[in-house]
This record gives sequence, C-alpha cells and structure tokens, in this order.
Amino acid sequence: MSEVIEYKSWICLICGWIYNEEEGLPGEGIPAGTRFAEIPEDWRCPLCDVGKTEFSVVEF
Ligand SMILES: [Zn+2]
Repeated sequence: MSEVIEYKSWICLICGWIYNEEEGLPGEGIPAGTRFAEIPEDWRCPLCDVGKTEFSVVEF
C-alpha cells in the first residue's frame, strides 16, 4: 500500500495570504513540503501577523 501525499493550501482568514504545503516558506525557514500542522505554533502570518488559528484549509 503506497502512501499518497496530498498537499494542501491554507488561507489566512484575515488577509487572504495562502500557505502552500508543497512550496513551503523557505524564506522563513520552512522547507517545501512542510505540513501546516508541522509549522511551529508561534509562527505568524507574514502579511498580517495573526497566529495559525486564523488559518483555514483551502478546499479545491
Ligand atoms: Zn494574514
């Protein structure tokens, strides 16, 4: 049984900035492929500085 890796995108509910798990955020030390759940809890939106709780998964 092979594991299917399905990347998701998360959107900031405040400013609309999107975090893409497949791309990560290398500029902030978050490697490509990092799950949103794996991002440190004290990480904040690079645009509006809200915490992870203000993000919602993007459904395609
Ligand atoms: Zn934001």
